[in-house]
Amino acid sequence: MPQVPNWQIGRAMEYPYAAAYPRRQFAFVININRCIACQTCTMACKSTWTFSKGQEHMWWTNVETKPYGGYPQGWDVKLLQLLEQANPGGQTWSSAGRFEGETIFEAAHGAAPQADGAAAPGRVLGYLPADDEWASPNIHEDSATSTGSGVGGYEPGGVSLPEHRTWFFYLARLCNHCSYPACLAACPRKAIYKREEDGVVLIDQARCRGYRKCVEACPYKKPMYRPTTRVSEQCIACSPRLEGKDPETGGRPMETRCMAACIGQVRMQGLVQVGPDGDWAEDPRHPLYYLVKVARVALPLYPQLGTQPNGYYIPPRWVPRPYLEQMFGPGVGQAIERYTVPDRELLAVLQLFRRDNRVIYSYKIEEGPKVYETEVHGRPFTLYDDTVIAYGRDGEELFRTKVEEPFYVRPEKHPGSI
Ligand code: SF4
Ligand code: SF4
Repeated sequence: MPQVPNWQIGRAMEYPYAAAYPRRQFAFVININRCIACQTCTMACKSTWTFSKGQEHMWWTNVETKPYGGYPQGWDVKLLQLLEQANPGGQTWSSAGRFEGETIFEAAHGAAPQADGAAAPGRVLGYLPADDEWASPNIHEDSATSTGSGVGGYEPGGVSLPEHRTWFFYLARLCNHCSYPACLAACPRKAIYKREEDGVVLIDQARCRGYRKCVEACPYKKPMYRPTTRVSEQCIACSPRLEGKDPETGGRPMETRCMAACIGQVRMQGLVQVGPDGDWAEDPRHPLYYLVKVARVALPLYPQLGTQPNGYYIPPRWVPRPYLEQMFGPGVGQAIERYTVPDRELLAVLQLFRRDNRVIYSYKIEEGPKVYETEVHGRPFTLYDDTVIAYGRDGEELFRTKVEEPFYVRPEKHPGSI
C-alpha cells in the first residue's frame, strides 16, 4: 500500500491510494463547551436533505450525548474494540505526539473475523451496524456518568453522589470530509470521489450499487444506505451553498445549514488552504487555521483512526482527561488550558462564531481599551474590548463585532409594548 503523510498522527501511514489533495478543504470547528443539544443543527439538515421516503433513519448530522449516546449506537466503542483486538495493547501515543498504534487502514492487514461475525473488509478495518443500531439517533441523551472512570467511563453507578463528579457532553457530528476517506478507500465501484476545489467527499449516485462497503469502512459511520433507491448517501456539505448558489449571498460561499442554524453559536465552518503535503498551508489570518494550528484549541475527532478528519472540536473542560485524550488525542490538556484562560487574540477570534452565514476567509483585530483584569485558575486574565473584523473570499468585509457584548437600551415605546 502507498504511504501518505498524516500530520494529525505525526507520521506517514498506509492508504490504498497515492496522496492527492484539493486546493482548499472544507473544515469546521465545533466548541463542545457551548453546545446545548437543542438539535437545531440536526433538524436543519434533516429538513433540507433527508426528508424523503427511505431516509427516515438517515441523520447526516446528529448530536449525541457522550459517553453513552451514539448514532449508530456504540459506533466508536465498537471500532476501538476492533482496533484493540487487531493490535492488543499497541494503540498508544508517544510523548512527542506520534501515534504508535495502527490506523484502520494498517489494522486491516490480516484482520481476524470481526465482532458479530462480519467479514474483514480487506482494505479498511470496520463493521456494518445492525439495523436497530440506527433506530434511535439520540439514545441516552443527557445520561451522565461519574468521574471515577477509566478510559471508557462505562462503570455502573453513573449518577451517584457527589453530584459534581458526574459528567456528560454533547458531541455534534457530521461527515468529516476526510483527507484520506475510508469510504472512498473501500468502495469497489470507485463511486466515491473528493472534489478538487473544496475537498468535499461525494458519492456518485449513478455509480453506487449499494454494496455498503462505505458504511462498513467509515469509522464515523456517516454514509447511510437508502433502501428505496438501493444506494448509499452521505452529507454533501451543502455543496450548493458552498458554491455560492444561494441567491442570498450574491455568489459568495455560504456555510452549511447545520452551521448556519446553530443557536448555541458553537460552530464555524470554512475552506482552508492545503499545501503540497496535505497539511494546511500557513494562513495565520484564517480563523480555522488560527484555532487549529496556532492556538491549538481545536482537535480532530479520533485522529488515531487515520482518515485525517476535517472536523475539529474544542474539548469540554469538565470531562476526565483520559476519556478526552482517547477521543481527541494528546493535545487535550493544552487545548483546555488555553481555552479556559484565553489570550487576547483567542478571545477575539472566538467572537467570530455565528455572526454571519457567509464563509469567513480571514480576520483582523483592531485593538480596543482594557476593560478589566482578574485571575482565572491562578493565572492572570485581562479583557480588552477589541474589534474583530471578518473578511470574505474576495477580501470584502463581511461584518465586525466586539469582544464586549453590545448593550442595547430599547426605546420606551417599541412594537409589542403595552
Ligand atoms: S467521515 Fe466517513 S463518510 Fe465522511 S469522508 Fe470520512 S470516511 Fe468518508
Ligand atoms: S444547533 Fe448548535 S447548540 Fe444546538 S445542538 Fe447543534 S451544535 Fe449544539
